[in-house]
Amino acid sequence: MQKIKKYLLVIILLLGIIPAFSQVVSFRLTASSESQNIFASSLYGAKWMSLNHFFKTYGEINSINTEDWTLTATLSGKEYIFYANSTFYQINGKWYHLPTTVERLSYGLYIPEAEFIRILKQEAFPKVQYNPADRHYILSPSDFSIIDITLREMKNGTIVRIKTNTAFRKEHCRVWQGNNQYLYVSIYGASANMNKLSRKYSAGVIREIIPIMAKDMLQFNVKMRMKIDGLDYFIDPQSGDIVISLRHSYQKSTTPISETQIKNRWMIDTIVIDPGHGGKKSPGAIAPDGTMEKNIALDVSLRLGRLLESKLGVKVVYTREKDIFVPLWQRPKIANEAGGKLFISIHCNSVESSRPYGTETYLLSPKSTEKSIEIAARENKVIELEEDQERYKKLLSPEQYILSTMAQSVYMKDSEALAQAVESNYKNRMGCRTRGVKQASFIVLIGPAMPAILTEIGFISNWGELKNLKKDSYRQEIAYSLYLAIRDFKKNQEREIKDH
Ligand SMILES: [Zn+2]
Repeated sequence: MQKIKKYLLVIILLLGIIPAFSQVVSFRLTASSESQNIFASSLYGAKWMSLNHFFKTYGEINSINTEDWTLTATLSGKEYIFYANSTFYQINGKWYHLPTTVERLSYGLYIPEAEFIRILKQEAFPKVQYNPADRHYILSPSDFSIIDITLREMKNGTIVRIKTNTAFRKEHCRVWQGNNQYLYVSIYGASANMNKLSRKYSAGVIREIIPIMAKDMLQFNVKMRMKIDGLDYFIDPQSGDIVISLRHSYQKSTTPISETQIKNRWMIDTIVIDPGHGGKKSPGAIAPDGTMEKNIALDVSLRLGRLLESKLGVKVVYTREKDIFVPLWQRPKIANEAGGKLFISIHCNSVESSRPYGTETYLLSPKSTEKSIEIAARENKVIELEEDQERYKKLLSPEQYILSTMAQSVYMKDSEALAQAVESNYKNRMGCRTRGVKQASFIVLIGPAMPAILTEIGFISNWGELKNLKKDSYRQEIAYSLYLAIRDFKKNQEREIKDH
């Protein structure tokens, strides 16, 4: 009896195995990757495929319980549990129902092919595609990691977006400018449909994009119409796209502008002064004795304005002249609409410790890093009180930040020169302790289309400096130092124009 049982078992097993090998369901991960045949079997007039074999090939089998034939497996970060002779299965602990039971055959558990493809589509490979030509399922149909290139023309530059479907890291990319009006973009491990990405542009700073496939990288040779002033690139954390921002002054319009127009454009005839904070909503820092930053900032601003008007004869525009609240986003707008040629925001510093003192002057950081946002956090804090939160959230996101700072970045060199002049005047004229010129993501510096700085004229959290800042004569000296820095900056700038 024992022997017969054994034979029967072998026969049953063989009967199971034979159909399993006679049928398969074929998969490829991408159109060009290796083909994998998953065991299948005919049952009740349909094709059923082996879950065990599939998960072993494309996922990972965590456990097989041979007592009740439960299969636990992982695929694309999700846990699947299938049960023999059951219409139920689980994904990540949630129960689902099949129109038929899962069957146990020669190679573990089997499920109707159509049902399993539906599950794959829903849970792991949304783009899974059947290619009837070679009778394969392609799990991730997009073969190329670089899908498209788009350009977006901005006022002061161009944004190049390289669309990807693979998560490249910044280390995979290199972007640089040659000295021959070419820009080069190398992406290691990338592939693309070369014909589709080869482009010519009749207008704009980019003349042509020529993709070249090297051994282990894809390179775009980008022919430009002029040399650009600078570039930046990053991986968009949301889409995974490679985003390159090019700063340049290439104008689409060919309307000739007269020399006087060019000169007027650069003449520093309007200066915008931005007294930090204001109104009940935003007092700024408050000293232990109740002195408020907003009042010192306004006073110094008005003193500076009067000096500039009387001594330089320039037009002065204030973002506020009284103790009122002006949202941060509105301040650069006021500056731009007034046709400002220089933007200076005046603030006082404050920290928890009473020890730190001295002056520091900021320009906008070209990169919105956590560090640069953190430094600016105190001055940006007022946005929490403003209604339009979304506006700022967007503004500080990596892509939008680069787009938004583009207008400012062409003035970066000038902003830095002005910031240096301001700090050296504080130091040399007044003996202030200078903490130097720094960069941070101040919202108020993002928008102005002109050289822009933010100066912290001292710590009101420090007793000595607070005592000084409360004196009229000291505030006048600060204003005078700022005036001198602006005067010299203006002289240099305009001399350069005349020399041209
Ligand atoms: Zn402030």
